[in-house]
Amino acid sequence: MTPARPPVAATASGVGIGGLGAPGPDAFLSVRDLRVHFPTDDGLVKSVDGMSFDLARGRTLGIVGESGSGKSVTSMAIMGLHKPGTVTMTGSIRLGGQELVGVDPDLVRELRGKRMSMIFQDPLSAMHPFYTVGHQIIEAYRVHNHVSKSVARKHAIDMLDRVGIPQSSSRVDDFPHQFSGGMRQRAMIAMALSCDPELLIADEPTTALDVTVQAQILDLIRDLQREFNSAVIIITHDLGVVAELADDILVMYAGRAVEYSSADTIFERPQHPNTWGLLTSMPRLDRERITRLRPIKGTPPSLINVPSGCPFHPRCAYAERMGGLCQSERPPFIEVLPSHHAACHLPQHERTSIWANDIQPTL
Ligand code: SF4
Repeated sequence: MTPARPPVAATASGVGIGGLGAPGPDAFLSVRDLRVHFPTDDGLVKSVDGMSFDLARGRTLGIVGESGSGKSVTSMAIMGLHKPGTVTMTGSIRLGGQELVGVDPDLVRELRGKRMSMIFQDPLSAMHPFYTVGHQIIEAYRVHNHVSKSVARKHAIDMLDRVGIPQSSSRVDDFPHQFSGGMRQRAMIAMALSCDPELLIADEPTTALDVTVQAQILDLIRDLQREFNSAVIIITHDLGVVAELADDILVMYAGRAVEYSSADTIFERPQHPNTWGLLTSMPRLDRERITRLRPIKGTPPSLINVPSGCPFHPRCAYAERMGGLCQSERPPFIEVLPSHHAACHLPQHERTSIWANDIQPTL
């Protein structure tokens, strides 16, 4: 994976972070103050605790963070995949103006597949091992389209063709285990796109694949997004993946957004110590590193007992500079530069100087 930032549209038009009023005029997906909490015997797990963002069609948002930061729980909430009764969900998720929080699960199920679909990290767990790949695409297509089996089969072969499966007219009758890992991922993309979803969520879509196949799958997602003009969310722990694909990046920590801006801006002048940590721990294949990788020290916090003040303070190398403020007060998520939001107490000039003098030269 090449983490260098390729050229992309530089503005975040049509996508915004709520401040958090009405959805932006172009927002196709609008999330406001989303909270997803799981009651457990040990206490309430606050996996997502106040997320807000907008996403327009034709745009790609990368949601980035370490495991446990809440990014996958957010995407599962949007797709309505949390088991009822195991979770309390509040706030608002609007898809094309339709509210999804607190509505009949059947309505969300209907929208899933028809207007939104998801690509998972592991296609084997998302595809049924006893049915052929073609059968699964055909069934997914026929749930939302009243067409004959032969028409649906032709569509399935077309989709397999589109995602680059060779000899699609015969491979359509193969079982998932007869496909290689990369081909299974392509087949799942074909299944996810078979109903032309307006929103596509890809959760760690390339983690299990080798580097060459990763690049092919990312190219494929980008090409198909352009063709379908979908709104796309890429969920990943790897900033290299979003460097390839995203227009905008939202960094999550402990269930909340800690930084958000256009992808160019995040790579050029990130404003949050957590984002700096993600960057310094990212392998670079495009150029020789001057220093060793520096993973973020410590481990992600418990989501039952989230640290006081800024949840990142036990791991932050700069918390001491603020004389106890980081331990006592949660920093607000505010616009620190034009179209650039972050949640950090450090004064602007200090963030600029740390990035320019301590972080950037080591990448
Ligand atoms: Fe670090 Fe304090 Fe900024 Fe949190 S608020 S990221 S602890 S400097």
